[in-house]
Amino acid sequence: MGRWIGFLCWLLVAATCLAQPAVARIPAGAVGQPIGACVARADVRLDARTLLSRPGHFDCLTPQRDFGSGDFDVLSGKLPRGAGQAAPAHLRFASAWQERVTVFAHYADGVIARVDLDGRGMSRTLASGAIFDVALPFRKVAVDRVLWRTKASVNTRAVVLAPTIATARESATSNLILAATYCGFLGIGLALLILNLALWFALKHGFQLTYCAMMAALMLYALSSSGLLAWLWPDIVNTDRMRINGLTLGAAAIAALLFARSFFEPEVFGGRTGLMARGIIGALVTTCVAYTVLAPWQARLLDRLYTCAFAALLVGVFVVLAKAYQKRSRFLWLFAFAWGAPIGFTALRVAAAFGLLRWSFWIDNSTMLAMTCEGLLSSLAIAYRIHLLSRERDEAREKEIAARMLADTDPLTGLLNRRAFLREAVGLPGDRRLVLIDIDHFKRINDTIGHDAGDEVLRIVARVLRETSEPGALVARLGGEEFAIVGLPGRTCDPERLLDALRVARMPFDLTVTASIGHCTGPLLREADWKLLYRDADRALYAAKEAGRDRARAATTLSFAA
Ligand code: GH3
Ligand code: MG
Ligand code: MG
Repeated sequence: MGRWIGFLCWLLVAATCLAQPAVARIPAGAVGQPIGACVARADVRLDARTLLSRPGHFDCLTPQRDFGSGDFDVLSGKLPRGAGQAAPAHLRFASAWQERVTVFAHYADGVIARVDLDGRGMSRTLASGAIFDVALPFRKVAVDRVLWRTKASVNTRAVVLAPTIATARESATSNLILAATYCGFLGIGLALLILNLALWFALKHGFQLTYCAMMAALMLYALSSSGLLAWLWPDIVNTDRMRINGLTLGAAAIAALLFARSFFEPEVFGGRTGLMARGIIGALVTTCVAYTVLAPWQARLLDRLYTCAFAALLVGVFVVLAKAYQKRSRFLWLFAFAWGAPIGFTALRVAAAFGLLRWSFWIDNSTMLAMTCEGLLSSLAIAYRIHLLSRERDEAREKEIAARMLADTDPLTGLLNRRAFLREAVGLPGDRRLVLIDIDHFKRINDTIGHDAGDEVLRIVARVLRETSEPGALVARLGGEEFAIVGLPGRTCDPERLLDALRVARMPFDLTVTASIGHCTGPLLREADWKLLYRDADRALYAAKEAGRDRARAATTLSFAA
């Protein structure tokens, strides 16, 4: 079963991988024409016009991140011919940490227009995919260059990230496609969250709750990092939204680890692995909170530490999987598949954060895709886990039933034993007939044919009693060679028929075995009723013995009635 689910997961991941080239072709994210960006440290003595006329002042070769934090001027390359001439041009660049930015658009006729964006202004220009989308003032004259003057850039990845110039149509298409994609992710996430929360109310497994926490954190992260949060809350300062990104991503990573810890068998997270998991969670909490609270102070260092905590998580996941393999965990393959996508994409992001890979819109936005995969596959893992748990519970229940049966039955004859018989019989409503059967001269039988053959006689008598009594009647061996039957008066086995059946039953050594019967009818609601009924039936049995055995006697009157 686990292998099958694993195979299914594998198919899903393979389908995701095959879909990657198609994803790259989707006209979303960094749409439009790339326009390049050359950087210089801000110089307050130089105004925008001067800067726009001096491209040589800017450094186009050094990677932007090598400049460190501070205030910067960034000059675009020459814009494509006729940009913004027929329709407003959209300047797009990915969200990065800065306090404010002023965009200067230089038109072919020498006019310069400026757009000032403070923290809130930046949020208002945020398009889906967390990309600033600034519509440059439309003057029916082409824009040939753009200048950004940024204030307090942290510059962890770049001052101005992946700038493009796009048409309104490209911009709108990208927004629509990305908003639909994110809403799709959010929809799946919400459905999984509600389903698992509802299941948690019914089943109360700890791993369901950690799963819900993980999905909730992921959805908040999706909402914030996609920029949709800025649509819902236009007054949020963009850097505060970025703090929420950091916080929710950290929370999702912690919840994912806690989910794994509550899901795997306890021995997987025992010993040093457990200690390591606690260490990683501690590192994630510390770096995540430090970044959220302290940035932009030491933001580059804090960002690096935060990335290191994620790299540790990545290593930790491999350690956990290795331990699960060593401990022969039943959930290893499920987790390997569920974590496959996030592991891959986290590795790419960590590589991008350390500057080993070029920034790519799709790598930056892969977290959500990967997390959705993880959410879906983890949900399959939960279904499998619940399946296993219910199977274990069914087996335990079956064992319990078997043990109970064993405790309730007489081992020699398979009939109810005295204790179980009394438990079942006392409390029955209405009048009941109690029939007591005692084998005649059984001691002699034992002496004649031996104790083992005597046992066989007891088994045969038990079978005859069971076959002769009505369905639903309680048939028990009270002890030794004494049996009892309780059933509805009138319908419970006719004593004469019973005696006949015993006489003709095939016994060891073709022995003829007879019995004496005493029976009595009365209520059986309480313990006291049983005592009276038994005493009278026993008296009738004694009378049958006295009268010569191999016969039945009914109690004439009930003692309490007499
Ligand atoms: P009566 O007709 O008066 O009932 O005589 P009886 O010999 O049947 O009665 P008694 O109470 O004197 O003897 C019962 C015998 O049943 C004594 C005992 O050895 C035998 N017995 C009791 N339990 C078992 C058993 O589990 N297996 C065998 N083989 N014999 C048993
Ligand atoms: Mg007897
Ligand atoms: Mg007896």
